[in-house]
Parts: sequence; C-alpha cells; structure tokens
Amino acid sequence: MVGLLCEGAGVLCVVDFVCEGVDVLRLVWCNVWFLEVGLVMRYHNITKDDMLNGDGLRVVLWVAGCEHCCKGCQNPMTWDPDGGLLFDAAAKAEIFEQLDKPYIEGITFSGGDPLHCANRDGVKALAKEIKEKYPDKNIWLYTGDVWEDAMRYSVIPYIDVLVDGEFVQDKKDATLLWKGSSNQRVINVQASLAKENPRIPVLHCGDYDDIPMGRETAGMPDQNIVPFNANGSCAIKKNACEA
Ligand code: SF4
Repeated sequence: MVGLLCEGAGVLCVVDFVCEGVDVLRLVWCNVWFLEVGLVMRYHNITKDDMLNGDGLRVVLWVAGCEHCCKGCQNPMTWDPDGGLLFDAAAKAEIFEQLDKPYIEGITFSGGDPLHCANRDGVKALAKEIKEKYPDKNIWLYTGDVWEDAMRYSVIPYIDVLVDGEFVQDKKDATLLWKGSSNQRVINVQASLAKENPRIPVLHCGDYDDIPMGRETAGMPDQNIVPFNANGSCAIKKNACEA
C-alpha cells in the first residue's frame, strides 16, 4: 500500500502490486483486514455447503482474476481481476462462520484463478490465517497453472489439495473426479512437497471415483497415489470449468 487519501466508512487506499512484471496501482476502499495485511483481492461469490469442489461439505471462495482464458471455461465472468466485490472483513467473517461448523470439512479457493497475481498474496494471507485458526480443516485450490509452476508460490505450503492445469475442451470428461479435463491433476500438496523431487506430484486421488484410489491412472505409479482422507475416498465428482 503506498498511500492513504481520506477516511470514511473505510479508508481510500492506493494499492501497489506487481502483476506479471507490471507495476499496478489500484484505488480501493480498504477495511481493517486490508490495512492489517496490506493486500487487496476481489471475489465473485462465497458458496456454502458445497459438495462439488472437494471432499465433504465445503465453503468455496470464488476469486476474481484469471489470465488462462481456457476455451470452454464455465466462469469467464471471473476473468477480470477488477470484477466482483472487494474481499473485506465481512466476507472473511462469512467464511469463518462456515468453518466454525464442525461438519464443514474445509475451504476451496476457486475462481477465476486464486494464483493469478492479483490474488496470490490475499489467498496466502487468508489460507495462513485459516490454517492457524482451523488446523483440522483442509484447504483445496483450483488453478490454471500446472503444478511444476505453481509449486514455487509461497501460498503453496498452506494448501492441502491443488487441482492444476487449464481446462482443455478436447480432454473434457464429465465423469472425471474433481476436475473437468483429463490433463488436470488432483494433487496432494503436502505429500508432494515432502518428496525428494516434489516436481513429480503425489496424487490425492485417481481420475474416477469408481476405482479405489484411481490406480488405473495412466503412467502414474501406485506409490504416487496416496489417500488424503483416512478412508482414501473421493466420493463426489467434480466438473471443473466444464462448458
Ligand atoms: S477454466 Fe479456470 S483457469 Fe481456465 S480460464 Fe476458466 S477460470 Fe481460468
């Protein structure tokens, strides 16, 4: 944050951040959360009791901003990083109210792309706070980046499961588990980071939910497919970015 112009219901701030090598200045109404973390992030929706974006019942934050422009994307309205609403303290409280519920298994960051440069720092701050406040809840993140690129971001250590890769219409398969096209991978982040070579990801589950742990996954040795839940099941299908 580089300036503080006036006060009102919030505070009008000039936010300065670097996006894809370009210095971006944005004038926004900030609130206490942004003043604390010095970040700005926008979002389109918070969905509750969601069963389609990760294991169990979840709260999902749909952030604004994506530059992957996948053909067949089901959420093109989320591509504009200036779209949607400012993520403020009220939005954070809405999420925490859901995470307070014992039957909510965790949060999923989707969009848009939570790893878009406009979102990375905000998602990291929020994920870090959630990990500290709710150590038993898990965090999923959907991104158009592939794991080999995404793994370098500082938000990654706070993520449990990452669904990677752009949606590829020619590889679309509505029966895939937690993903929309077969090039995408559902990755156990912590198990992958613990490996000697984390660039070879450990999968959270297989491609389909009707074969235990998806051990049929082409070219993926069994030892690279480990359960995230105790029972190792991924019971509900995901059609990420399905057109
Ligand atoms: S499918 Fe996902 S990564 Fe691709 S353009 Fe849409 S929001 Fe972005």
